[in-house]
Amino acid sequence: MTIETIHKLCCPFDRADLQLTPIRTTVTGDIDEGYLLCGQCNRIYPIIRGIPIMSPDEYREFGLEKPLLDRWKTHLNGKTIEGFRLVAGGEPE
Ligand SMILES: [Zn+2]
Repeated sequence: MTIETIHKLCCPFDRADLQLTPIRTTVTGDIDEGYLLCGQCNRIYPIIRGIPIMSPDEYREFGLEKPLLDRWKTHLNGKTIEGFRLVAGGEPE
């Protein structure tokens, strides 16, 4: 997915702006892997093979996303995921 398209997306819950963290880009500069973070509710939306996963919570399967998020650990700035939200990790900030 192109960065331009991704910047047009907003959080489906509160319509707040999403902050993009690119993890892997294609040769053409499109986002292949990364995640979008909502500045309002802190929900995290993974981008997998260029497709942002933006389903409502009840349609998301955390078990499917966890291996990916584990792999992206270094990109999460020491934070962890709870209820699809990025929250502060074990160490105080
Ligand atoms: Zn939100």
